[in-house]
Amino acid sequence: MTHTHQTSITTEQLAIFCKQKGFVFQSSELYGGLSGIFDYGPLGVNFKNNIKQQWWNTFVNNRPDIVGIDGAIVSHAKIWKASGHVDNFEDILLECKKCKQRFRGDHLVEDVLKITADGLKKDAINKLVQENSIKCPNCKGELADAKQFNLMFATNVGPVEGNTAYLRPETAQLIFTNFKLVVETARLKLPFGIAQQGKAFRNEISPRDFIFRCREFEQMEMEYFIHPLKANDCSFIADVMDYSLKVYSEEMQHKKNKEKEMTIKDTLKQNIIKTQWHGYWLAQFHQWFVGLGVNPEHLRIRQHVKDEKSHYALDTWDLEYHFPMGWKELQGFANRTDFDLHQHMKHSGKDLSIFDEETKQKVIPHVVAEPALGVERAMLVFLFDAYHDDKKRGNILLKLHPKLAPIKVGVFPLVNKLEEQTKEVYQLLKDDFVCQYDRSGSVGRRYARADEIGIPYCITFDFDSLEDKSVTVRDRDTTSQIRVKIDELYSILSRLVSCKVTFKELEKHYKKVVVKVNEK
Ligand code: ATP
Repeated sequence: MTHTHQTSITTEQLAIFCKQKGFVFQSSELYGGLSGIFDYGPLGVNFKNNIKQQWWNTFVNNRPDIVGIDGAIVSHAKIWKASGHVDNFEDILLECKKCKQRFRGDHLVEDVLKITADGLKKDAINKLVQENSIKCPNCKGELADAKQFNLMFATNVGPVEGNTAYLRPETAQLIFTNFKLVVETARLKLPFGIAQQGKAFRNEISPRDFIFRCREFEQMEMEYFIHPLKANDCSFIADVMDYSLKVYSEEMQHKKNKEKEMTIKDTLKQNIIKTQWHGYWLAQFHQWFVGLGVNPEHLRIRQHVKDEKSHYALDTWDLEYHFPMGWKELQGFANRTDFDLHQHMKHSGKDLSIFDEETKQKVIPHVVAEPALGVERAMLVFLFDAYHDDKKRGNILLKLHPKLAPIKVGVFPLVNKLEEQTKEVYQLLKDDFVCQYDRSGSVGRRYARADEIGIPYCITFDFDSLEDKSVTVRDRDTTSQIRVKIDELYSILSRLVSCKVTFKELEKHYKKVVVKVNEK
């Protein structure tokens, strides 16, 4: 299948853009860099925090049925023994006998044969390499037999050697190990969710595609627990029944069909999505991305096929995005049943069952869906969708959703003589909006710079402002401008940035400004 992506930029170009603007830097660059590890610059840190804040607001603060935790990164080895990571969290490694370069087996096979190889075991990879005479893509040397490679980062706790602990490879397990304490302290009743955001570490064999695959990254995960027999009893299902999205089921993949636009109602009726709760959560997160500006054409949900599904998962779907390198996983949704709680009961010897008041039964709840999203992948998606090379303006236009934009308001004096009064406006706003005060170059240049880093609204204080106590507010996406009283500025910006009103609506009530200053 060929993929044409609507955005005008490759992953490499986006990486350059992110470095130039101060979003993302290669970590340790001063000393040659560390592959798969990144630092976030002045814009990147705000952008990342805004994404995390939006996620937390939507899925924790705004929901009575979900609470959050913040677990530790360094964690007891037994957690990862119980979860299966110590024994099974492995990728297949292929090493070139000649140049010693190492490759992730399934990715190399996928790249060469253009097939899906996710989840293939060592023997299957070896067979494909031999049958197709796959050689080292670097030097054409012969590849050694495939080996298993564990992705966990180990560390030693305290001064005693051998006290091994692990940097968590996912945030999820900390939710299970704190399960009983959270249920008791937050007095949770089924169904409920426990969410967490934070760093995770995976010693990926070959990190690639900029921040798509890192060795240090952040996750936003949630475990949603239900009564084991109530997977089809979702009290919120009516909210999403008519929601429609692109669906790529296991059957469609086998038949080599294309994905199909379907409503959640139809996916459930046709037993494509197997449970109401799974359908509900897929729709909710899809909607979260669309609500924050992602074009739904670039999103689809794809069901895992038999070989790639984890042994414990009943059914798994990925929310995928149409990256320049093809459709790739953005977020996973595994139905993990009671696998994790069972494992931790077995390994800790503690009872993790809870009392369900409705059925008056003691149950080990099922995780009906574990929406697991990487912050870096979300950043990429928002950036790819926002990036426009605007030929008419002659500059990049980064159409980030106002809630995600790292800087919300640009504040400019028309000429430097007006600085004192402009700074008063800046003072009025700066406590509640991340503002950028900019006095250098022509106003046109300042607008262009603001467009390039996604500032949604810019305010210019001009000579008329001295008389009419008003300023112009410029909308990034349309370049249209309105005249607003300084007294009203705070309330108008609040409504704009929180999307309670659109600029178009404001244009009906405020005087439109015919742009006098040459934009360049
Ligand atoms: P992949 O198949 O791409 O390696 P995965 O299936 O192992 O991903 P999960 O274990 O389901 O990923 O992790 C949940 C989410 O965490 C992923 O959907 C992704 O957004 C993010 N994630 C996983 N690994 C990485 C990584 N190395 N770098 C950045 N984000 C990651």
